[in-house]
Amino acid sequence: MNKAIKKVLVVNSGSSSLKYQLFDMTTETRLAKGLVERIGAGGPANHAEALKKVVEELGNPKDIDAIGHRVLHGGETFCDSVLMNKANMAKAKKLVKFGPLHMPANLGGIEACEKIFKGVPNVGVFDTAFHQTMPDCAALYAIDQKFYKKYGIRKYGFHGTSHKFVTQAAAKFLKKPLSKVNLVTCHLGNGSSLAAIKNGEVVDTTMGLTPLAGLVMGTRCGDIDAAAVLSLMESEKKTPAEMDTILNKQSGLQAVSGVKGGDMRDICTNAAKGDKKAELALEMWAYRVALYIGAYNTVVGGADAIILTGGIGENSAEGRERVIGRLGALGVKLDKKTNAKTRGVTAVISAKGSKIPVIVLPTNEELMIARDTVRVLGN
Ligand code: ADP
Repeated sequence: MNKAIKKVLVVNSGSSSLKYQLFDMTTETRLAKGLVERIGAGGPANHAEALKKVVEELGNPKDIDAIGHRVLHGGETFCDSVLMNKANMAKAKKLVKFGPLHMPANLGGIEACEKIFKGVPNVGVFDTAFHQTMPDCAALYAIDQKFYKKYGIRKYGFHGTSHKFVTQAAAKFLKKPLSKVNLVTCHLGNGSSLAAIKNGEVVDTTMGLTPLAGLVMGTRCGDIDAAAVLSLMESEKKTPAEMDTILNKQSGLQAVSGVKGGDMRDICTNAAKGDKKAELALEMWAYRVALYIGAYNTVVGGADAIILTGGIGENSAEGRERVIGRLGALGVKLDKKTNAKTRGVTAVISAKGSKIPVIVLPTNEELMIARDTVRVLGN
């Protein structure tokens, strides 16, 4: 595998859609991007058919050197991105239980690529992998450890590819070696998570066994007393699957604000009009983010910077102001003017005298996947 990897296709194969981007990795430029929707629901019958559409859209390329795939869950098996050969595919298939909705689609996308792009190597990039450096004290739950051993019940964390991208970008921006950088990275989107980065590695993150834990999100409740869930199941006679829907799809910003989907823009608009539910939702959201920033600043032994990314972190001046306004005890101060005009670009939004700089850093998970693909195949 000594051939120079130039063109890399990045595939994010979901249960009913397939997103792709094509990169020229000699310059890290994106050559194309697209989305095939309604797989198995009126559109292409399956992922192989969807990929045929991608090939057509790309003008039947003969020069794709490698394909990088987003894969939801790597369990404890995958601590880094890997070549998806037969052995690794077999190992990944054992992890389907951790993501019964996403994993079959992710792995199906890889198998479809093997058929359609014959001989082109496929690399799996796992959303959990970057978090595998967490120490046991952070990763394990305080339950009988036989459950961990039997079922793998522990914290895995997600958005790893995004946290990794901004960690590397922040080290570069701060002109520090990656192995010496301490950060609190905040991926604030529809789904949100924080990571505590010590010496360039994850030491804690807010999502858990599943993406439900931690922050208040668009439609997920985040942290909740497990006994409250049991109590609700009993009172409302809900099955585990029904409860899962309530907590993942009918909670969070959406439930508190009454705004369908829990979109930050709409909630800010409603709050500005005096809507009390929207106001409460924003305060609950910001409170939880600030709470974890404070905790993770302790965990990393003092952060060199707080990094904000994701749809909200990159774009929502109001969301950022509500979070940063709660960090006075850390000596963090916001530059309100810079914050107000920062949207989708790298910028320091803290004031000059701020004890910890706050930096907005647009994430690029697809580019991270392409970089990892090149790195794995080069090794
Ligand atoms: P996902 O987790 O689905 O990838 P994103 O990272 O795209 O989500 O983030 C979506 C969130 O970002 C939504 O709550 C949306 O309101 C918010 N957002 C996107 N653009 C803006 C903007 N210009 N101003 C405020 N919020 C924004």
